[in-house]
Amino acid sequence: MVKLKTSGEIEAMKEAGRVSAKVLRMVGELVRPGISTLDLDRFAEEIIRMEGGIPAFKGYGGFPGSICASVNHQVVHGIPSAGVILREGDIISIDTGAIVDGWYGDNAWTYAVGAIDPRTQELLTVTEKSLFAGIEQAVSGNRLGDIGHAIQRIAEASGFGVVREYVGHGIGRNMHEDPNVPNYGHKGRGIKLETGLVIAIEPMINQGTHMVRQLNDGWTVVTLDELPSAHFEKTVAITEDGPLILTAE
Ligand code: MG
Repeated sequence: MVKLKTSGEIEAMKEAGRVSAKVLRMVGELVRPGISTLDLDRFAEEIIRMEGGIPAFKGYGGFPGSICASVNHQVVHGIPSAGVILREGDIISIDTGAIVDGWYGDNAWTYAVGAIDPRTQELLTVTEKSLFAGIEQAVSGNRLGDIGHAIQRIAEASGFGVVREYVGHGIGRNMHEDPNVPNYGHKGRGIKLETGLVIAIEPMINQGTHMVRQLNDGWTVVTLDELPSAHFEKTVAITEDGPLILTAE
């Protein structure tokens, strides 16, 4: 069931969005060779709590971290670890979420660790671009498929693979609400987008095959061909004035 939000509720969600965005930016600023993903996680939890939030991911379905830290061919849901040390040439998707006053914010960004392979840099550029193309379609009167179509078109035009098994989602009092928001689809198909719908749009785009598998840890999703994957996400409200990014400072 899709739960539309009032303008007052959307206003209230801005604080969870602000904290989620601030922690993502600050953790991103720490990304460099030599730092472990557990160090990034500890820092993130500290910032979220200092800002008056609760880490949304910690304990979610038993997830141990406050962030998801997915390096190179890891797509999403990487578990922060002292044993994962970033190296020059890596990429890392960091996903952060905060709860404030019972409302959720959720966002992600993929960072380069120093200089990276040019094709992988293209993957980051194109995935970011696809996110904003998807957001542009998040307007009242459009259909859900318009968002996925816009993302898929951009990713596939550059020869990249769109992950199918993991998708964006509605968000509000829960981190995952209806509807699912796929990063692929057909123009004009799917449910009608209405004012008050709040969704996390999050393209997960692979440098090679779109196919993924989950590791035995029960969380980490990796590409089948072990080529890199990028992930960018924002929480977006559909308002009378168009798409409003809630995960903003
Ligand atoms: Mg999400």
